[in-house]
Amino acid sequence: MMRSNRPERSLRFKITASFLVMTLLAFTLLGILANVILKKQFENYVIENLNKKNEEIVAMLGSRYEDWGGAWNAGGLESIGVGAMSDGLILRVTDTEGTVLWDAMVHNSGFCASMMETMAQNMQRQNAGFNGGYTEKIYEITSGGSVAGTVAIGYYGPYFYTDNDIKYLNTLNMLILLVTALVGVASLVFGAYLAKRLADPIVKVIKTADQISEGNYGQRLDNTSDMREIIELTTAINTLAERLEKQESLRKRMTADVAHELRTPLANLQSHIEAILDGVWEADSTRLKSCHEETVRLSRIVADLEKLARFEGEGTVLNKERVHVPALVGQAIKVFESELDNKNLAVKTELQDITLFADRDRIMQVLVNLLSNAVKYTQPCGQIAVSAEETDGHVRISVKDTGIGISREDLPYIFERFYRADRSRSRDTGGSGIGLAIVKSIVTAHGGSVEAISTHGEGSEFIVYLPK
Ligand code: ADP
Repeated sequence: MMRSNRPERSLRFKITASFLVMTLLAFTLLGILANVILKKQFENYVIENLNKKNEEIVAMLGSRYEDWGGAWNAGGLESIGVGAMSDGLILRVTDTEGTVLWDAMVHNSGFCASMMETMAQNMQRQNAGFNGGYTEKIYEITSGGSVAGTVAIGYYGPYFYTDNDIKYLNTLNMLILLVTALVGVASLVFGAYLAKRLADPIVKVIKTADQISEGNYGQRLDNTSDMREIIELTTAINTLAERLEKQESLRKRMTADVAHELRTPLANLQSHIEAILDGVWEADSTRLKSCHEETVRLSRIVADLEKLARFEGEGTVLNKERVHVPALVGQAIKVFESELDNKNLAVKTELQDITLFADRDRIMQVLVNLLSNAVKYTQPCGQIAVSAEETDGHVRISVKDTGIGISREDLPYIFERFYRADRSRSRDTGGSGIGLAIVKSIVTAHGGSVEAISTHGEGSEFIVYLPK
């Protein structure tokens, strides 16, 4: 058996691990994609927000200027400027002459510097290599259609994240991480469950196959799975076990039958020879002839057994060819020419011009066995009729005689090995009870069937059906 050098792992391990790896891979990819795509969108949102806020401040300065009666109010400017600072914006308001009215840097330069520092750190933490710095935009403040001054809005640019923004981004990543962990655990559980469902029946099959290989042919698996391949595997194992069981019982029966068949002639022979050796009997020609007859009988049984062994059992290789049925029947009848003459038996044939795709020699054997029985079991001056016809895809061959027939009790058994309807009589006719067993195994190997119809004392008919 070829084995790879890779370490052996159980099916359960492999399936569970694949499940886990697949899920983790999928979610890691999702996490990366979400970060890349969402961050880009978030960035746009933040920039838009920043611009909006700037414009709001400019608009507010304009409207306040109007509220203050078209003049700047230092206290009012300070409260706007300090409010903007808490949003991360550094204002510097100048009037139309260019005089600075309020400057956040002047108001609290330390705070501004540390704010810029913190923002730089935050942005670097979010996005290593973020290229940012102090940015300033200058807007004109208008009030009632005329210019009231300018405001420079400085901030950490090109954009910056507020604490809330950072919280939002962190929550998002935490969420993805949490879902990944949850799905990972779920996939582990589900993968393990699926693997168990898949591996359990396979383990059962292995155990049963082991048992079968140890000779416990009675073992069967129950088909409880809903997976097609598993059902097919179990069915295959069950069929295998069934076949082995059948073969085994066939082998046992065969051995028992053979022993039983050989025992009688061997015992006869032994007692005859012992009687002669002991001087009880004289070794005259009658005694020797009787011994000779027993050995002939033994040889015939052995020869028949050889034939049967060749035909019986599955796996018989058939040499199929086109066989012209009338020609083959004619040939088989020829074999019995002299016996037919001796017993003065008439043979009637009714043969359609059919060809059959079959093993010529074996079909010949079938015909010879059936004709041999018909000749054997028909009294002188009787009749034998052989017919062949085609019936829906099958060839039907019948061998009918007007012989002694078979009793109803014997009829079901005549195709069994060594079965003889009348043992004492068949001893005279020389039958070993194997002929019909051979017929049956050949016909079965061809995918056909054979049946016998008989009335005791009136005659018998043997009908063989063979697929064309
Ligand atoms: P055998 O070698 O004894 O003929 P077979 O297997 O050919 O063995 O036949 C089994 C038994 O079936 C025979 O012993 C006989 O009793 C019965 N039998 C078979 N063919 C016929 C027949 N044509 N007429 C009457 N009996 C038959």
